[in-house]
Amino acid sequence: MNQENIKQFLKQLGEIEIKEKEPLRRHTTFKIGGPADFFISVGNKESLKKLLLFSFDSKLPVFMIGGGSNLLVSDQGINGLVLHLDGEFNIIKETQADGSVICGAGIPFTKLIAEAAENGLGGLEFGWGIPGTVGGAVINNAGSKGEWILDYVEKIRFLTSNGEEGTINRGQIISAYRFSGLKHEDRVITEVFLKLVKKDKQEIKKSLEEFAGKRKHSQPLDMPSAGSVFKNPKGCFAANLIEESGCKGLREGGVMVSNRHANFIVNVGGGKAKEVLSLIKTIRERVKTRFGVNLELEIELVGF
Ligand SMILES: Cc1cc2nc3c(=O)[nH]c(=O)nc-3n(C[C@H](O)[C@H](O)[C@H](O)COP(=O)(O)OP(=O)(O)OC[C@H]3O[C@@H](n4cnc5c(N)ncnc54)[C@H](O)[C@@H]3O)c2cc1C
Repeated sequence: MNQENIKQFLKQLGEIEIKEKEPLRRHTTFKIGGPADFFISVGNKESLKKLLLFSFDSKLPVFMIGGGSNLLVSDQGINGLVLHLDGEFNIIKETQADGSVICGAGIPFTKLIAEAAENGLGGLEFGWGIPGTVGGAVINNAGSKGEWILDYVEKIRFLTSNGEEGTINRGQIISAYRFSGLKHEDRVITEVFLKLVKKDKQEIKKSLEEFAGKRKHSQPLDMPSAGSVFKNPKGCFAANLIEESGCKGLREGGVMVSNRHANFIVNVGGGKAKEVLSLIKTIRERVKTRFGVNLELEIELVGF
């Protein structure tokens, strides 16, 4: 399928926003990433179905991007379509007094937490300060301090790679630390059904402030990053191993190992994906030599 045919198909879809050769550094928290052939913001299920079916039939690769907060996108970018949920996927559809909440998968995780708090619904306070969307959080089973989002999910709605709708109940989703069985399954999560906990609004507010304070103190939030680069190995913190291996402050071109939190690589200006990869390699080698531990990536590499 040539670019012209793709463009013609996309044009007749009407109201969706399409950008050609869109630099993905504009859509990742690392501010790193080359262009997407087509970057498309989709605001309703019908357009999304058509897009998925079209790309399935024409064998065009599709990559879903949420807040781009757990990604290292290559300097060459991503071939095919990069889809981003917007419009009807970016709202809370229903909130009930018993704690049931239905939201679009494109809504920012912190917006969900804030709106739930306004309604006296808590449980997700641990996620305050985790960037990205609810869809991305579910895929990664985002969490903090021993709690994670899938504990509060009842079911999800999705579209398959050829645009068919389906539902998966929580019991069918495998979950672990920073992992859900939904990852790499070629499904687009469209809606998330949660069961939150009735709580006192002031109590929720207080714990949100505490979570925000801890993050501000321990993380380099003033610099672009993708959060923790490595998963914590069993029984210890990756940040401690990295720090004790003398990696804090290591620099490669426009990126460096944060002096505040050793498990963060920050973009100090014009950073490139290849520079991040080079730092990752150095960190892994040093930690392996010093502690005999193989660090596993938490961030996802795309387009390499
Ligand atoms: C400063 C900072 C702090 C962080 N702190 C934490 C933390 O405490 N805990 C934690 O768990 N993470 C943390 N992260 C990592 C990241 O924010 C989470 O993993 C987040 O949940 C990713 O969501 P996203 O929308 O940005 O997903 P993206 O990074 O855009 O995508 C992640 C994956 O989800 C897929 N995806 C996204 N949306 C959909 C969808 N609708 N359907 C299907 N697939 C989809 C993508 O294809 C990709 O495979 C942090 C990151 C930063 C930058």
